[in-house]
Amino acid sequence: MRKDPENRDGPRPVGATPPAAGGNPEAGAAPPQDAAGPPCVPGAVALLGPDGPVAKALGAYESRPQQLEMAAACEEALGRGRHAVLEAGTGVGKSFAYLVPVILRAVAEGKPAVVCTSTISLQEQLVQKDLPFLEKALPVRFTVALMKGRSNYLCPRRLRMAVSGSADLFDRAEETEALARIAAWAKETSDGSLSDLDEQPPFAVWDKVCSEHGNCLGRKCDLHKGCFYQAARRAAAKANVLVTNYALYFADVALRREGSKLLPDHPVAVFDEAHEAPAIAAEHLGHGVTFFQVKYLLDSLLSPSGRKGFLRTLEGGLSAERPVRDARLAAEAFFGEVVAWSRTRAPENLRIREKAFVPDPLSTALEGLSGALVSLARGCETEEAASEMNRYAVRAHELSATVGDIVLQKTAGHVYWAEIGETAGSLVRVGLKSCPIDVAPVLARELFAKRRSVICTSATLATAREGGFDYFRRQIGMPEAVVERRVDSPFNYREQATLVLCPTLPEPGDAEAFVPPAAAKIIRYVRATEGRAFVLFTSYGLMKAMRDRTAPELSEWNIRILQQGEGTSRTRMLQAFKAAEGAGLAIYGVDSFWQGVDVPGAALSTVVIAKLPFPLPSHPLVEATTERIREEGGSPFEDYFLPEAILKLKQGVGRLIRRKDDRGTIVLLDRRVVSKGYGRRVLAALPDFRIVYED
Ligand code: SF4
Repeated sequence: MRKDPENRDGPRPVGATPPAAGGNPEAGAAPPQDAAGPPCVPGAVALLGPDGPVAKALGAYESRPQQLEMAAACEEALGRGRHAVLEAGTGVGKSFAYLVPVILRAVAEGKPAVVCTSTISLQEQLVQKDLPFLEKALPVRFTVALMKGRSNYLCPRRLRMAVSGSADLFDRAEETEALARIAAWAKETSDGSLSDLDEQPPFAVWDKVCSEHGNCLGRKCDLHKGCFYQAARRAAAKANVLVTNYALYFADVALRREGSKLLPDHPVAVFDEAHEAPAIAAEHLGHGVTFFQVKYLLDSLLSPSGRKGFLRTLEGGLSAERPVRDARLAAEAFFGEVVAWSRTRAPENLRIREKAFVPDPLSTALEGLSGALVSLARGCETEEAASEMNRYAVRAHELSATVGDIVLQKTAGHVYWAEIGETAGSLVRVGLKSCPIDVAPVLARELFAKRRSVICTSATLATAREGGFDYFRRQIGMPEAVVERRVDSPFNYREQATLVLCPTLPEPGDAEAFVPPAAAKIIRYVRATEGRAFVLFTSYGLMKAMRDRTAPELSEWNIRILQQGEGTSRTRMLQAFKAAEGAGLAIYGVDSFWQGVDVPGAALSTVVIAKLPFPLPSHPLVEATTERIREEGGSPFEDYFLPEAILKLKQGVGRLIRRKDDRGTIVLLDRRVVSKGYGRRVLAALPDFRIVYED
């Protein structure tokens, strides 16, 4: 646990000199400005250059012209009030390249900039390492805050309420023990956020004590002064640089459409790992409901036995027992119908094409429950109890609205589908989903039209070596007049990595013919480096087939396969792999191992890619995207499947070379990069590896 009182009440001003609106006068010529644009803040290139303060603070300065090129492009975009797409290869040092100009701009203008990332590890790197370093190194004072989603913060008022009602709220000993641990931790934590807790509590416990939108008494709360969430908000409001995640960012975008917001107004935003932004936006601009969510709400109000639940903590609360039971029966009937539909009338991909595809008693039952809870809230003796009750009412209403929206397909431009988990006989993993088929129009309107500069950066944004940003811009809704730059990695890929192509293997679509010879190649290359290998797949089916085929022989050579989806989390698999320096281990992974995984050094010396990572055509969203492109007169393959595959392949091959002295081999088992016309475009988009063709 960390205890840092300085961190509690707000951002920390650091640095010796007052804000320098003009930046460093030693900077080169100011970038061009639009006549109507704000004045440019020069200086980032000089600050990051060989004679600048960053080099001095680093001690051993390593000249990185690519970093300066990216910083200049970023400065240009900020100076001209333009958006930017900046592809920066591995090793460019892109965090500093965007942070320095963004900090200068935010300080000069006195308006915050938001930096958005997709992973906690990148957020931690920015907040715990990069930004504190720059706070010390740069000759400007600036403040930083990390903003997490609201439910990450403890609500001391709800904690007090949960402790006093715990006998009625919690069924199991582990839950009351977890509550006691949280109560003890609350006295010493500095930021009150979930990640500061050593042992993660059960969801059912944290959910009763976390800060919630719509369940906060604000200034009327007697614990307002010591409130962790309010402290984080105050820090965010004062910060020059606010670091957050995409989930919160796109929740903010969605809320702003309704006149509300989560983040302070900010003219500048940076999207790091921006290749992930369109998919995350789609998820957060869509809807979803599961049987588990409904059951959880109802059980929290009153357990099926009637012995536990929030209603029991209030006098007269049991008057809502009937609506809870009605909603429970309706939920079982409704999700049972969804399962029956999936087994009899549904298409294989469970896409819901017709309105009212099943009868819906649930939205009415949940709305009735919501009304009953609102009435109860009016009669509550304390504002605290009324707030909690109203929150339950709002949740019931929201779930009702989502069920109704999906069943009646109310949102234009969305695709709808069902997801049925594998747990036999249980409804717990049954759910319904919807998301926009195309997020571009929403983001063009709600994001790019409303922010002066959105800087999108990642190692994989371009689908070709020259230009190639059209696909990303189109996908995310970015206008055409933007600053575009592709900054190559400083690594010497030709010397550091070999790309092995296998033109004589059968095509992977013919699994029966493909698996035996492809498995032989996997064995050969994984053996060659005695493990230290990632083997990346696009489907669990192919991964399992290859594992069955390769595991016996690899085990004879003392090489063990760590396979994704076998109960061990990705984090633990990676920890085990890194702890062994990869020796005697091969990770077989899908999807999440293609990106965001960093294993530098000899620990990862071989990356095998089984198949070009085209999107799965049968997925409802992919199917709907295909239909949309056809309707617009485009080519689904050229306009969607191929660019998607190129970007994901670039991510996959990017796992191998993480440092200047890394060496290794990439084996691409999909012959289509050689046999098909588009193969040349795929290869041309990759780093400049030494290519070897193998029989
Ligand atoms: S101010 Fe709101 S979030 Fe903070 S303790 Fe009070 S009720 Fe909870």
